[in-house]
Amino acid sequence: MRFSHLLLPTLKETPTEAEVVSHQLLLRAGFIRKLTTGIYIYLPLGLATLRKIEQVVREEMNRAGAQELLLPMVQPADLWEESGRWHKYGPELLRFTDRHDRPSCLGPTHEEVITDLVRREVHSYRSLPLNLYQIQTKFRDEIRPRFGLMRGREFVMKDGYSFDATEEAADRTYQKMNDAYHRIFRRCGLRFRAVEADTGSIGGSFSHEFMVLADTGEDTLVICTSCRYAANMEKATSQAPSAAPAGELRPLEKVETPGKRKVAAVAEFLGISPRELVKTMVYLADSKPVAVLVRGDHEVQPVKLKNLLGAVEVELATDQQVFDLTGVPTGYLGPVGLKLPLVMDREVAVLRNVVAGANEKNYHLRNVNPGRDFEAGQVADLRMVTVADRCPVCGSELELTRGIEVGHIFKLGIKYSQALKATFLDAEGKERPFIMGCYGIGVSRTIAAAIEQNHDKDGIIFPLPIAPFQAVVLNLSPNDGQITSAAESIYEGLRQQGFEVLLDDRDERPGSKFKDADLIGVPFRVTVGRKLAEQGMVEVRQRADGHTADLPFAEAVERLAEMIRAGLARYSIKNDE
Ligand code: ATP
Ligand code: MG
Repeated sequence: MRFSHLLLPTLKETPTEAEVVSHQLLLRAGFIRKLTTGIYIYLPLGLATLRKIEQVVREEMNRAGAQELLLPMVQPADLWEESGRWHKYGPELLRFTDRHDRPSCLGPTHEEVITDLVRREVHSYRSLPLNLYQIQTKFRDEIRPRFGLMRGREFVMKDGYSFDATEEAADRTYQKMNDAYHRIFRRCGLRFRAVEADTGSIGGSFSHEFMVLADTGEDTLVICTSCRYAANMEKATSQAPSAAPAGELRPLEKVETPGKRKVAAVAEFLGISPRELVKTMVYLADSKPVAVLVRGDHEVQPVKLKNLLGAVEVELATDQQVFDLTGVPTGYLGPVGLKLPLVMDREVAVLRNVVAGANEKNYHLRNVNPGRDFEAGQVADLRMVTVADRCPVCGSELELTRGIEVGHIFKLGIKYSQALKATFLDAEGKERPFIMGCYGIGVSRTIAAAIEQNHDKDGIIFPLPIAPFQAVVLNLSPNDGQITSAAESIYEGLRQQGFEVLLDDRDERPGSKFKDADLIGVPFRVTVGRKLAEQGMVEVRQRADGHTADLPFAEAVERLAEMIRAGLARYSIKNDE
């Protein structure tokens, strides 16, 4: 590709609309342009990168025995009525009616459509296992589309769905997909972790998320420093607390705590540590209030609360809502005598003689004891894990780190096959629902995640396997015949060897060519300039580590080809791996 003919509009300034670095760099490097909120145009380099990732995904899905198909983006409402999601799926589902008044939607995901297809076409256990996938544009009317490709309304996803005859077979398929995902993200050159993920209220199933490790990630990951345990914070648990200490339960005592509403302030005022205090938080679970008790130094994990209560949505009540419900200002709420349903974290259950709000402005109670002074409806792990916790599996220290969810695999079981009556006949001629799994990869989000993980002040540093070009050749003097013909011959030579190469043949200052090459993140840069006439040399520089070497012009193509091949070999995976 010649820069002079390419639609590659790089920008010097950082666009003010972009908050995160991947969004800024994708705009600056001329990969994407915004059409409207959460909807982006892929310019040639953006598309080239997208295609690279798609190709890796495709190869590994095919290798794992999945078959590619392409499902429609527009879906009829009937199928969603059948699955029960037409009314359950929130406003992210873009619904509309066509000219014949048929309710329809734009596909945010395709469980309904694929289950419908399979129930119509597959009838026997002999056709199983079946694993089908597509790479397609999804639409989700996200409440807060942001960060460019990271959370769009329109985005490219690989979604796969498996159908098995037995639980064991479904588990094997799940494991195959887990392996395929490891290969995909390794081959993309990304540092990632697979973590246990929340499965919501679908019992008996399991799920893993694939997280690209980056400080800017929206998700917090809990990772054991010694064993393989790793989980999303929404799901992560820790070693259970030891039983409550034996000893005297002292009598309740009301103490004045004027103006002390926050845990830290109350603890300091009473000369105790926050862990000797119980926090009472009011949540609305599908609009019904519930009080949640956690230790003063802990935080409620809303997803765990949601799962415990079987709610669709939970949100923290506002101060005003708390006051309307209890007549007590927030900060002085406590479990003793509180007229709200109570649930408590398992760590609270083992506390003795602690401090809690007295349900009266400016007062707290000392020596509160669960069991004696109040009863909670349910006791469960309801809190966020902290670095002070220990691994639930091996008891070692835990580490917290941040990640970007690029993939998600999920054992669905019979949730959809049952709802849509998708069945097959087993070997005994008995009708059974398919056992399903679903497997997503955010292909467009992976571009953003790769950049969040790999960039510096000058621009993107693409991992070689997903870079839109493997090499860029800079012709520093397009008006100089010798330099131009040398640059052209390196460009052609590399292309003939099958590499993707950009030739910067623009009539621009060398400075802007260097800047643009860095900005777009091409792994190998070849500079053809003055050194050619003076010493017969061209310069090769690697974007990732800045390593620079001069090569004789005559050997440049061969040596570069070797370097690129060696680079790519680091990410390739052999068949038996
Ligand atoms: P999130 O929790 O980030 O909203 P999700 O759990 O709803 O994502 P899935 O339904 O698991 O997403 O979709 C599969 C993959 O699609 C995700 O792992 C993610 O990489 C990608 N994805 C989901 N929503 C978006 C979006 N709005 N923009 C870009 N990629 C997305
Ligand atoms: Mg997900």
